[in-house]
Amino acid sequence: MTIRIPNRVPLAITPTPLQFLERTSEELGVEFYIKRDDMTGLELSGNKVRKLEFLLADALDKGANVIITGGGEQSNHCRATAMAAAKLGLSSVVCLRTLDKKSPPEMSGNIFLDKLVGAEIVWIDHEDWARQDEVYEAEAQRQRELGRVPYIVPEGGSNAIGAWGYIECCRELAGQLGELEKADTTIVYACGSGGTGAGLVLGAQAYGLKENGIKVAGFNVCDDAPFFIERIHSICKEVVEAEPSCPDVERASIEMIDGYVGAGYAKSSPEELLCLRDMARRDAILFDPVYTGKAFYGLVSELSRTPGRFGKRIVFVHTGGVFGLFPQAKAFETLL
Ligand SMILES: *Cc1c(COP(=O)(O)O)cnc(C)c1O
Repeated sequence: MTIRIPNRVPLAITPTPLQFLERTSEELGVEFYIKRDDMTGLELSGNKVRKLEFLLADALDKGANVIITGGGEQSNHCRATAMAAAKLGLSSVVCLRTLDKKSPPEMSGNIFLDKLVGAEIVWIDHEDWARQDEVYEAEAQRQRELGRVPYIVPEGGSNAIGAWGYIECCRELAGQLGELEKADTTIVYACGSGGTGAGLVLGAQAYGLKENGIKVAGFNVCDDAPFFIERIHSICKEVVEAEPSCPDVERASIEMIDGYVGAGYAKSSPEELLCLRDMARRDAILFDPVYTGKAFYGLVSELSRTPGRFGKRIVFVHTGGVFGLFPQAKAFETLL
């Protein structure tokens, strides 16, 4: 069946390159490829841009003029949403989670960019976050009272619409991997809210990657594997309900590798930072401490224990996050 693709507004620079990293390949004893989704753009960069192409097309279809979303204080998703909104002439409100909302953190990294591009920041704490949907709805109500038409993008842009970003990324990958002998390959990614994972798992099935022996494996950077397997499974189900031309995804086929959350979401250990530093020095690839750096540390650790773990070839999806690296400069002080 041909897959019917929902409306999208062009925001990402695609296809992103699929690059072979020779020195990292030697270091890890596998053919190591990197899918440069950190290069979907500059200010509008990383994995969230692919999702926003579909989410904001939906927002525009619905006549929205203000986009509401939320995330951690250094959220890449919020920054990408704020940038994308500005690009389309829309306003944005980003609800940023911090320890004490009465004394918000300094204006660094993504927070600075949110401000720069004109997003309104609403500081929320962990209690608010636990009922984030209500917070977004209250904000939407406030916007309606101001005569605006709000559109809520959920955490990470991870729902059945946002997932299309990575379903379509698999089409791109299918073309790029077509030139290689496909089997014995694993696509590896960092999982933080499940939308990228859902898109990759579903897209790998829809565009024949799975059929060609290509696996997909995520590293969760928060919560745990059962939580994300459930989340990814339910996003995939929603996609198929809305678009029956998509294939069903079995829960058992979703691979999530647990054990690398480390000190907690957005908290780094020196080992993780050293691994990130070494990658920068070896191949001039900049990972971020919250997502890609953690997932890559997990990958290296798994390989040192079980060298054949991912087959002979790895495609690591670089999901971006570089602006989150700068506020962490201090943590590197003794490591550089
Ligand atoms: C959001 C994000 C992820 C995680 O993607 P999800 O779709 O939320 O699971 C990975 N890497 C970076 C850099 C991100 O900003």
